[in-house]
Amino acid sequence: MRCLACTPGACSSEQALHDGVALFTQYMSPEQIAAIAYHGADAADDPLWHLSGAASQAEYGRWCRHCCGMACLQMVLDHRDGHTPPLLELLRGCRAYGGYVEDDAGQIKGL
Ligand SMILES: [Zn+2]
Repeated sequence: MRCLACTPGACSSEQALHDGVALFTQYMSPEQIAAIAYHGADAADDPLWHLSGAASQAEYGRWCRHCCGMACLQMVLDHRDGHTPPLLELLRGCRAYGGYVEDDAGQIKGL
């Protein structure tokens, strides 16, 4: 069933509530989110890291904690287009436009 909020003329902008939006997270293994976010687990140990589009486990581990905005973008793109680029591919694109700056100390400034 097509999303009414995405159907031109089907509803007003005040009524826009999208149906069927797939969930994307910044971690490739959703069952590990609590361990990573709250219990200090190393995100790089996520066995599904390769699904992120990262070139290496280390790249995934370094960046995924900062990718909540890219995960949200994935939900938007997937809902609109039926597909989305991988998380780290979006991150690289965002960095090319000045997002996710690393300072001289190597700290990542998120969006
Ligand atoms: Zn929609």
